[in-house]
Amino acid sequence: MKILIVEDEPKTGDYLRQGLSEAGFVTDLVRDGRGGLHQALAEEYHLVILDVMLPGLSGWEVLDGLRRAGRGLPVLFLTARDQVDDRVKGLELGADDYLVKPFAFAELLARVRTLLRRGRGAPEPTQLRVADLEIDLLRRRVTRGGRRIDLTAKEFALLELFVRRRGEVLPRSLIASSVWDMNFDSDTNVIEVAVRRLRAKVDEGFGPKLIQTVRGMGYVLEEPD
Ligand code: CA
Repeated sequence: MKILIVEDEPKTGDYLRQGLSEAGFVTDLVRDGRGGLHQALAEEYHLVILDVMLPGLSGWEVLDGLRRAGRGLPVLFLTARDQVDDRVKGLELGADDYLVKPFAFAELLARVRTLLRRGRGAPEPTQLRVADLEIDLLRRRVTRGGRRIDLTAKEFALLELFVRRRGEVLPRSLIASSVWDMNFDSDTNVIEVAVRRLRAKVDEGFGPKLIQTVRGMGYVLEEPD
């Protein structure tokens, strides 16, 4: 899941970015309104976290620009405690939720998950399943054959990608940009290492093996015939 953060306060922006990355989301951070709107229109995001008071364009103007461009993705507003009117205005303009600063990260994460779950249009499934492997997206919990498997945030994101695109051969470059938000650098073996660890947890001691290497192409998760 990819989240755009538009926030000019360096501390808040970095804090959000780090926390959301650790929770397994891919994040982009833009520190001004004009850049934020441009970025939101340039790429596909599942959610935007938008500060109200921004240089360039205000959060309201960014939201207005998004809705005028027909982008219905959920928007979570961050508003200052003394600006109660902001909430009303934000909601009128089509914001989906707001959070008053300062906020606890756990509260933000709960709102983010609710918004992503609610989404717009077709409801997102909350459970994914391949063979006897089950992923509970809300509780961030994985089981296989009823046995609990503990994954790190990155491993969870990697498995979620594999399962959402089951049967598709995923090149390393796609995995790098989707899960690590980085460009693929052939000198790094971070993806091989991560896939190996994920396999050890998800496939070893279970049958059949779900994650396969496709030589020279990448990886695929599928249920063998
Ligand atoms: Ca601000």
